[in-house]
Amino acid sequence: MTTRQYELVERVLSYQPNADEALLNRAYVYAMKAHGNQKRASGAPFFSHPLEVAAILAEMRLDDATIATALLHDTIEDTEVTRGEIDTMFGREIGTLVDGLTKIKKLDLVTKKAEQAENFRKLLLAISSDIRVLLVKLADRLHNMRTLEHMKPAKRRIVAEETMDIYAPLAGRMGMQWLREELEDRAFRWLNPEAYAAVVDRLKMLREQTQGLIDEIEHALTSKLEEAKLQAVVSRREKKPYAIWNKMERKQISLEQLSDIYGFRIVVPEVGDCYRAIAVIHTTWHAVPGRFKDYISNPKQNDYQSIHTTIVGPRHQRVELQIRTERMHDVAEYGVAAHALYKDINGANGSMVPSQDSNAYRWLRHLVGMLLDGDNPEEFLEHTKLELFQDQVFCFTPKGRLIALPRGANPIDFAYAVHTDIGNTCVGTKINGRPMPLVTELRNGDEVEIITSEAQIPPSAWQSLAITGKARSAIRRATRDAVRAQYGKLGREILVRGFQRRGKTFSEDNLNLALKRLSQKTVEDVLAAVGRGELGSAEVVRAVYPEEAQAEPPKRRRKIKRSDEGWFGLGKVMGLKFRWPGSSGRAKKDAKDAFSGIPIRGLGGDLPVSFADGGAVPGDRIVGILTPGQGITIYPIHAEALKAFDEEPERWIDVTWDIDEDNPQRFPAKLAVTVLNEPGSLAQVASVIGEADGNIQNIKMTNRVADYTEILIDLEVWDLKHLNDIVAGLKGKDMVSSAARALI
Ligand code: MN
Repeated sequence: MTTRQYELVERVLSYQPNADEALLNRAYVYAMKAHGNQKRASGAPFFSHPLEVAAILAEMRLDDATIATALLHDTIEDTEVTRGEIDTMFGREIGTLVDGLTKIKKLDLVTKKAEQAENFRKLLLAISSDIRVLLVKLADRLHNMRTLEHMKPAKRRIVAEETMDIYAPLAGRMGMQWLREELEDRAFRWLNPEAYAAVVDRLKMLREQTQGLIDEIEHALTSKLEEAKLQAVVSRREKKPYAIWNKMERKQISLEQLSDIYGFRIVVPEVGDCYRAIAVIHTTWHAVPGRFKDYISNPKQNDYQSIHTTIVGPRHQRVELQIRTERMHDVAEYGVAAHALYKDINGANGSMVPSQDSNAYRWLRHLVGMLLDGDNPEEFLEHTKLELFQDQVFCFTPKGRLIALPRGANPIDFAYAVHTDIGNTCVGTKINGRPMPLVTELRNGDEVEIITSEAQIPPSAWQSLAITGKARSAIRRATRDAVRAQYGKLGREILVRGFQRRGKTFSEDNLNLALKRLSQKTVEDVLAAVGRGELGSAEVVRAVYPEEAQAEPPKRRRKIKRSDEGWFGLGKVMGLKFRWPGSSGRAKKDAKDAFSGIPIRGLGGDLPVSFADGGAVPGDRIVGILTPGQGITIYPIHAEALKAFDEEPERWIDVTWDIDEDNPQRFPAKLAVTVLNEPGSLAQVASVIGEADGNIQNIKMTNRVADYTEILIDLEVWDLKHLNDIVAGLKGKDMVSSAARALI
């Protein structure tokens, strides 16, 4: 048996006389053999690390199972040892503890600050089974921080940041103040070396200046308490560099202005002694008003108890004092772990159960309960007020890259966070292997796969669906470019036609010469302006051929009845089918709802599309009219309003319905119904429409002829047959004198 093995076992037996000595020895030898010749970064044998971790936990007086776990904590991860072997050799209890630590360790290899929350979440999940996993982890981290100088600088920084952000606050939350302070201080040293050195320097100077004074105060306190026959241990305490720096930063003051760099602690046997001691102190020195706090009768949330006071000391300087019992001191220093000292052993396995009345226990029970109940770590984070990254979600790419997004983000945001090209070509997503709508809110830990298609252009409606600025601006850029390209294409078609009609040939070179007359910078600008309807083709022809400005071509009415090929094949040029994002039926439906999509073929890209006032329904032959500044308006081909565009064939776009059988959708139409002016006639009209499954959107009534009311109804129907059925149904009613579709 080595000296260190003997020391460790003796130490455990000193505070836990019934500790399983054989278990500790077995764990010691087993771990030492398992790590064999492995070396730490410092060159020391690897086994020195688990041994030091065990020693830290023995200082905290933790039970034999925790000490054995500490010795074994790196075996599964770093050696050939398996969970099964640990179970066989040391039992399931220790097997589970070591397994928990292995899981946490796998999550330690982080490279970004944001990734720590995920880490943290898993870490907390791990302790839901046993708080001792977390205690070993904290001791493990402490030893790694104590030996951090041997690490490579890059790794050093990551570990220090993680310690500052995750482990130090956690130790504090668990009431282990000494651990929190040491972790913070060691992390501070590597994260901000200049500040650390400056504080240490100034502290050294201050210490030299005040040395005599501190001794004097300590002596005065001790002798006064002795005189009162109080059995008190007086100790001095110097604030740690990080705590000093933090306070200087927070309060924007200099080190010299800090009044609490030095403090004294008085530890007495009994609670009553605390009040006797404070009486002695307050009758000897003046108390600074407003600084007396009794945390004995009002313990802090984490179970902390003490009396705090500040007095004006022997040389008129302020001195901070803490007065407490030994037990209170243990709770203050060891927090959750301290309860092991006063625990009731829970049955034969001796698992650690903090005394039932403690706040720390309640906090832990709450924590464990919540993790078991809801499996909702987000809610947990909000609850503990640790407030680390709770406004973010962490998702993975299929290759395991971690993407941090703001809460509420969806796969569109995810796609753009991975790469702008991925976002721009995104058509669907799988979350955790299942096809899902692109509007699904992502959750922590989701694995998100983005399905892309080269033909995709992001719909502009995504701008309002995405929540990240990056996605929104990329979508805006992509749709602006796409819209401009589409308008450019349209403009070119319109101009080619326009020139032809006037017996000229369109050429970009000619157009180039006319740019100035058109007040445009580039040919592309001209094409886009014509496409947007801001510039007529006649104007462009006149600008290119100014000498022939007066000769307008003969007007020619276009015939409504045309072949299905379209007017000039623009549909083929523009024949990009609008793609709905998402591949599953559900995704498709959600996406359509979200975009208020109009399922029409021949639009191309992302020009805004809307129905003309009278609506159009599947079964109608339809045409798109380029409306300046608005995009494309869909009219039924027999709409009267189309006559207005007869002389501008450039604006007509050939479109067809693109109805999805699986995904029925309603379309707008208008009905004009004339009824006898009698009570109940409107109700009867409404009920005919309702029974036929029509959706009334709006009703307008006018009374043009005596005894009759004309009703204009905006409604939504499935298709032309549905609309005709409704009209027939209305005609069948006695009080209806006429019913017809109202076309504009
Ligand atoms: Mn370790």
